[in-house]
Amino acid sequence: MATVSSIAQPTPFERALKLIRPQFGPITLGVFLILLASAVTLPAPWILKLVIDDALPARDLHRLGAYLAVFTLLFVARSLLTLWRNRVLQYAAMRVTCDLRISLFRHLQSLSLRYFDANQTGKVISRVTQDTGELYNLTNNFLINLIADSVTVVGVLAFLFWVEWRLALGVTLVLPFFAINYLYNRRKMKQEARVHRDNWDNVVGFLQERVAAARVVKSFGREAAESDAFADGINADYFNFSKLVMRNTRLGVIADALGSLGGLIVLGFGGWLVIEGRMQVGTLVAFNAYIVYVFPPIVRFVDLAAVFQRANTALENIFAVFDTRPEVVDDAEKPALPAPTRGEVEFARVSFDYDLEPPGKGRPRTLTDVSFRVPPGLMVAIVGPSGSGKTTLINLLARFYDPASGEIRVDGHEIRSVAIESLRSQIGIVLQDNVLFSGTLEDNIKYGRPDATREQILDAARTANADEFIAKLPDGYSTVVGERGARLSGGQRQRVAIARAILKDPRILIFDEATSALDTQSERLIQQAMECLMKGRTTFVIAHRLSTIQRADLILVMDAGRLVESGRHDELVGRGGLYSKLHALQFQEPV
Ligand code: ATP
Repeated sequence: MATVSSIAQPTPFERALKLIRPQFGPITLGVFLILLASAVTLPAPWILKLVIDDALPARDLHRLGAYLAVFTLLFVARSLLTLWRNRVLQYAAMRVTCDLRISLFRHLQSLSLRYFDANQTGKVISRVTQDTGELYNLTNNFLINLIADSVTVVGVLAFLFWVEWRLALGVTLVLPFFAINYLYNRRKMKQEARVHRDNWDNVVGFLQERVAAARVVKSFGREAAESDAFADGINADYFNFSKLVMRNTRLGVIADALGSLGGLIVLGFGGWLVIEGRMQVGTLVAFNAYIVYVFPPIVRFVDLAAVFQRANTALENIFAVFDTRPEVVDDAEKPALPAPTRGEVEFARVSFDYDLEPPGKGRPRTLTDVSFRVPPGLMVAIVGPSGSGKTTLINLLARFYDPASGEIRVDGHEIRSVAIESLRSQIGIVLQDNVLFSGTLEDNIKYGRPDATREQILDAARTANADEFIAKLPDGYSTVVGERGARLSGGQRQRVAIARAILKDPRILIFDEATSALDTQSERLIQQAMECLMKGRTTFVIAHRLSTIQRADLILVMDAGRLVESGRHDELVGRGGLYSKLHALQFQEPV
C-alpha cells in the first residue's frame, strides 16, 4: 500500500474544508440566518426588564400589552428563522456527506487489488458508511451549534458589559475555567476516540465476514463460539466507548457546575447591588435571563469536543484512503491497445511478489523469471501444484498487479504502455468462484456489456448452455439471483459466468476450471459451452481435468513460482519430469 507523505500535510479539518467548499453558498445563507435569529433573540430578556421596571411600577396595562406583543413577535420570528436555517444547513451537510461517499467509492474502485488484499472488507465498508457520517455531524453541529452559540455568547457578554460592567466581569471570571476543563481532557479524548474507532472497525470487519460466511460457520458448528467472539469484540468496544462517554460526561458536569457558579455570582453580587440601590430589580432579572444564554452554549461547546474528536479520527481514516494511490496506474495519455487484438501473449522474464518488501533469504518470490510465448488462438493449460503461481500468472496478465520486473506483451504491446481499460476489454475471465451480483440473471449476463440487446443476451446464454435452465425458472431472465448468486447451483453459476464472458467477446480468455467435480451432466454442459467460447480465442485454462489438459495446444507447468516445463501432453508425459508425476497423481479423469 502506498504510504502517506508526512511533510507539510494539511490537517484533516483543513482538508475537510475543501470538501465543504461547494456548499459555501447555502452555508453562508445559513450563517446569515443564524445571525438574524440571534439578533431577534437577544432583546427578549430586556423586555422582561422593561415590564418589571417600567410597566409594572406605572401600573400601565397598555404598556404591558405592547411589551408582550413585541416579545411574542420576536419569538415567532426566531422560530421561523431557526426552521429555515436548519433546513438550509442540514441539506448542505447532507450534500457534503453524499458527495464524499460518492468520491470515496469512486476512489476505492480505482485502487489496486493489493489494497483489498490488505484491508478487511468490513473496514472498507465502515469508511464509506460510518466515517463519512461523522462529517455530517461535524458540518451540522459545527455550523449550527458552534457559530450560533459563539455569536450568542459574544453578543450577550458585550451587552451585559454595557448594562452593568461590574456584574458582567464577575460572570466572565468563570469562563477561563471552562477552557481549562476542556483543554485538560482534549488529548485523552482524542486517544480514546481513536481506540474506539479502531475497535469498532474490527467489530464491523468480524460481522461482515461471519455474515458472508454463514455457511462455513454452521458447517463447523461454530455458531456459539462466533457469538462469544462477537460479544468479546462488542464488550471491548463497550469498555472503550464508556471511557469516552464518561470523560465527556465529566466534562459536561463540571461545565454545568461552573454555569451554576456564574448564576450564583449574578444573584449574590447583583442582589447586593439592588439592595444598595445601585441597580434596578428588572436589570437583575434580565441579567439572570441573559446568563441562560451564555452558559448552556458554553456547555455545548464542551459537547462539541466529542464530536470534533470523533470527526477528526473519522477524517483521518477517510483521507488515508484518499492518500492511497492506485498501484496499477493508468494515465489518460496512454494509447489504447489496438482492437481487436490477435491474442498473442508473451511473458518475458517476469518476476513478481505479493509482498512489496524485497524477498529476503529463504523466502522465494511468488513468480521468478517466467518466460513463454503463446501464438494467437491457442488453448493453453496452466498446471502445477497448489500455490505454484498459476492464478498469479493470470492476475498479472489481466494487470490486477504489475510485475516487479520483466515484461508482459499482448500483440507485441507491453501491457503497462497501453490503457488498462483497452487491455481488459480484450480479456474475459471465468473464475471458479463465479461471483454474480444480486440482480436479475439478465443484468448479470450483460454486466460486461450493458448495451447488449435482448437478442444478444439470449444468444450468449444459448451458447453457454444456460438458456435451458433459465427458461425453466418462473421469472426466466428476470429471476433475481440472490447475493453472490446464492440461489443458483454451482454449475448454473458457472454457465451464467460463461454467458457473461461470451457476450463480452474477448480475444483472450482466462478460465479457472472448477476443482470440485460437478455431476456428469453439468460437466458436459460446461465443457460444451467452453468449447464454443474458446473457438478463435487465445485461452488460458488453470486446468484440473485430464481431458482439458490433453486437448491443450500448450501446457505450462509451474512449480514454486517458476515455469519448469512446457509442451504438449504427450511430449511432457514422455519427459518424466514434474508433469508426468502430476499426471500420475493429481489430474482427475473426467467423471
Ligand atoms: P492453487 O492451485 O492452490 O489455486 P496457484 O498455483 O493458483 O494455487 P497462486 O494463487 O498463484 O497459486 O499463489 C502463489 C503464491 O502466492 C502462494 O504461495 C500464495 O500463498 C501467494 N498468494 C496468492 N495470493 C496472494 C495475495 N493476494 N497476497 C499474498 N500472497 C498471495
